[in-house]
Amino acid sequence: MNGVEVPSDLASRSAPDFAADLARELRVASLEAHPWPVVGLRGDGTIGYINPAWSRFAHDNGDGPVVDQRWSVGANYYEAIAAPLRAFYRQLLAEAPHRDASLRPHAHEYECSSAEVYRRFTVQVYTLADARGHVLINSLVVEHPHDAARAPLAPNDARYRDDNGLVHQCAHCRRVERREGASVWDWVPAWVRQSPLLTTHTVCGICYGYYYPGMREPLAR
Ligand SMILES: [Zn+2]
Repeated sequence: MNGVEVPSDLASRSAPDFAADLARELRVASLEAHPWPVVGLRGDGTIGYINPAWSRFAHDNGDGPVVDQRWSVGANYYEAIAAPLRAFYRQLLAEAPHRDASLRPHAHEYECSSAEVYRRFTVQVYTLADARGHVLINSLVVEHPHDAARAPLAPNDARYRDDNGLVHQCAHCRRVERREGASVWDWVPAWVRQSPLLTTHTVCGICYGYYYPGMREPLAR
């Protein structure tokens, strides 16, 4: 295929019919070699393809076992997205232009930082012909050490857990919301390295305003 060898384990990361659909329109070897996660979806959000970086990225971020078990081929992509953002992503894909309408793929930027570095990514959405689905290609845009505005704090159950014992973590910047204090969000890198038990993912006000200016922010807890 295009003179580039496709890894032999492709079959373990792709539904057979999805691999055929991919090869018809995209250079599979390039998706395979892409250094950041790529995922192929059917119209209902069922995952039909993941590249090797999908699992590698999850393992580098401490979520490897969960992602391998729950967010692989056959799972539904939308269930892996923080609940407040699902409608946004459904709409992003629904509005992504067909190749004949535009060669410029739809794109959305988001933050996905680690405990050590601030990172921003873009996801580009490619629409497959005949409503066969979409391919989402993530790429790193910015990466640098966290600045002083994110002073690291230590985990503290009394400060961060709500009445139900839940920690509310922003799915973007990964800061956690204080139990008291009117939407104060703190940087707790130990909980970025390893999610605390009973974490619920939402989006903080700053990330809503910056990345989703058209969306209505859910009521604060
Ligand atoms: Zn945030």
